[in-house]
Amino acid sequence: MKKIAILGVSGSIGRQALDVCAWPSEQPGDEYQICAMTAYRDWRFLAEAARRWQPQTVAIGDEAFYPELKAALSGLPVEVLAGAEGVQDAAADNDAQLVLAAISGMACLQPLLAAISAGKKIALANKEALVAAGELVTGLAARHQTELMPVDSEHSAIWQCLRGEDRASVSRLILTASGGPFRGLSAAELEQVTPAAALRHPNWQMGAKITIDSATMVNKGLEIIEAHWLFDMPYQQIEVLIHPESIIHSLVVFGDGSQKALLSCPDMRQPIAYALNERRRLPAPLPELDLAAKGSLTFSHPDTARFPALAVIRSAGEMGGTAPAYLNGANEFLVQAFLAEKISFTAISAILERLLAGYNNQEASELAAVCQADSQGRRDAERIAGGLF
Ligand code: MG
Repeated sequence: MKKIAILGVSGSIGRQALDVCAWPSEQPGDEYQICAMTAYRDWRFLAEAARRWQPQTVAIGDEAFYPELKAALSGLPVEVLAGAEGVQDAAADNDAQLVLAAISGMACLQPLLAAISAGKKIALANKEALVAAGELVTGLAARHQTELMPVDSEHSAIWQCLRGEDRASVSRLILTASGGPFRGLSAAELEQVTPAAALRHPNWQMGAKITIDSATMVNKGLEIIEAHWLFDMPYQQIEVLIHPESIIHSLVVFGDGSQKALLSCPDMRQPIAYALNERRRLPAPLPELDLAAKGSLTFSHPDTARFPALAVIRSAGEMGGTAPAYLNGANEFLVQAFLAEKISFTAISAILERLLAGYNNQEASELAAVCQADSQGRRDAERIAGGLF
């Protein structure tokens, strides 16, 4: 049995991970035992999943739902925890060898640090923790000799392409981007887009936060920073290529003139399974890619005039320090403000640009500095957005 824990089980990645865990296994030993699972608010889903998978521990992030969860699980031999500390305890204190970190946003940082400190292997589906606290997370992982196994589709593709290669032969990484639902819109049309339109991603089924980030291309900016930390790659060697079909998930460029790419139908269960199985390619009931049926794949350079957030987030990465934590916190606030129809779609990028220009950067080697930059980003974004409400 593979013993795992799933942080953020009710989210898009968490649910798809449960699908993967339920796939029939061909060999004894390839089955999964889920030792712990957490959710923020969706206690109904968490209780249902706990009844099915019988974990040792469950935790609900929002303490207000503890009584409902506890009652729903009465009679089951499961420890029920609540609050941020409960989620951290669930991340670290269980029999799991591997923890899937799939909580959305900065809320994943402390549970992730707790899991790494407890010596767990990490399948990392969250990017914000690494963006905001890359130095801390990678430093802690190195001290505990824990590899961060990427689940983000682009980074999983690069991880798969790098396998067996001499790192000195790699000259660049190319992250592909679908361009999101508004790839073809003019600057004037972008002013008018609604949350409902932004939530309709053409290729991927994802949660609300990442779908809006994908539409603004903040997501691809965050992924540049994520790639920098995961693969220890300088920013000038990380590029973005628009590829609307989402068939090539990313590429690695080698010094000998060759490039390697990973192709598959866009389905997150492939990278989830690859990380949960620690690079073993087990048979999976996923659709096979039919390139002839696809006919053609297309590529272009990103348009940073219409999607300025891509360059703004990259700049924050290049600045280093707490600048990425600051902008990430601001972006988390702005996405919620846009979803609540309090600011326009284009205001997200405009405010991020303005905030970064005025930011007084700090060192990011302490957790307190990172958390402080994150809260300052949220406050400053709220203050500037307030003028636009
Ligand atoms: Mg991605």
